Amino acid sequence: MVKAIVGANWGDEGKGKITDMLAEHSDVVIRFQGGANAGHTIINDYGRFALHILPSGIFYPHITNIIGNGVALDIQKLADELKSITDQGVPAPNLIVSERAQILMPYHVLQDGYEEERLGGRAFGSTKSGIAPFYSDKYAKIGIQVADLYDEERLKTRLNAAVEMKNVIFQHLYHKPPVDAGALFQQLLEYRELIRPYVGDAVSFVHQALKEGKTVLLEGQLGSMKDPDLGIYPMTTSSHTLAGFGAVGGCIPPTAMEDVICVTKAYSSCVGSKTEPFVSELLGEEGDELRRRGGDKGEFGATTGRPRRVGWFDTVATKYGCMVQGATQVALTCLDVLSYLDEIPVCTGYEIDGQITDTFPVPAKLGRAKPVFETLPGWKSDIRGITNYADLPANAKTYVDFLEAHIGCPIRIVSTGPKRHEICMR
Ligand code: GDP
Repeated sequence: MVKAIVGANWGDEGKGKITDMLAEHSDVVIRFQGGANAGHTIINDYGRFALHILPSGIFYPHITNIIGNGVALDIQKLADELKSITDQGVPAPNLIVSERAQILMPYHVLQDGYEEERLGGRAFGSTKSGIAPFYSDKYAKIGIQVADLYDEERLKTRLNAAVEMKNVIFQHLYHKPPVDAGALFQQLLEYRELIRPYVGDAVSFVHQALKEGKTVLLEGQLGSMKDPDLGIYPMTTSSHTLAGFGAVGGCIPPTAMEDVICVTKAYSSCVGSKTEPFVSELLGEEGDELRRRGGDKGEFGATTGRPRRVGWFDTVATKYGCMVQGATQVALTCLDVLSYLDEIPVCTGYEIDGQITDTFPVPAKLGRAKPVFETLPGWKSDIRGITNYADLPANAKTYVDFLEAHIGCPIRIVSTGPKRHEICMR
């Protein structure tokens, strides 16, 4: 049985916590897309962790964690993250790095930075971790797979071909120094040893696990809005953030995916360029207050520390986000954060060129959308840590019912705090 945990919005919905919670009853957790460019925050008995590349099942000794073939594998970051968790007392994890995963190279990181510099004010707000150049190269077929590290002749040939192309771009487009293929080759041989204990045939492992009736969790990074096909292109990431891509990047048979849990926050948050359309954004002091109170330590990026933009819940974006994920249920996080408000606006429509719609528009129209709000009463009492849904104040339950009716998908999980057990099932 396969469950996917994915984001309905712009990322940072609290997927880490939900994955961590559901991982307890799973046998395998798979990262199937993205790289170390976003983070999941997990708070457990070992401490507080911001995971960027490791799957969220890493804290449980009974779980096999897989970095799937769809991931952009930054080996140095993986090694650093492994070290940082074991330094904090977490037992050595059970990890398989797919031999088909491709390696995010140091020149991808350089290229990402050079391109942002070239674009100046037109930049996309990249995290500069090399993700866009990585996926460009993958589809241009000059990427390097993990398995290539263990065939030196093949590695040399493929590396030289890639570096030849990079150096034309680096020198003539960006006016930067060329990359030294020989030094890079030596670095890759060192990387090869760092990951050797983990490299394996994830494809056969996953299919065997499913044959044995094991429970597999697909862990998505970012959310629907960041998908390059169905999101707010070009303000997206470069890999598919949709559960459907788990069939490719996590090598899951599409028919095996039974449950798609779409995570959304009780308000909106979005990290990225200021030029990104964010219809229900809350600015000024009210926005600062929500940002300060959001998440477990305020709304600041887990990878970059950048302040996240915040806004009211957006049912137009979330209904669409759940639809394109194929959500079977919704997990609503951070409901406790809204407890300070007298009234809570919810964006239930977009006005575009004088017309009101609740259908999420194409990117060409999104920039012109203005939010239409409905306002609900707040509950003005601390609900942090409530685990029995019936114990929530009536207005909090009304708020949840209202969101559910608008997004058209059952909200089965309501999170009332950042800790693993601060959760109600509904
Ligand atoms: P992810 O990338 O989707 O895993 O999201 P992040 O972990 O980056 O961001 C979610 C933030 O909200 C983190 O700081 C979490 O600790 C925090 N969080 C998750 N669920 C809750 C909740 O129910 N209440 C509060 N207050 N914080 C939460």
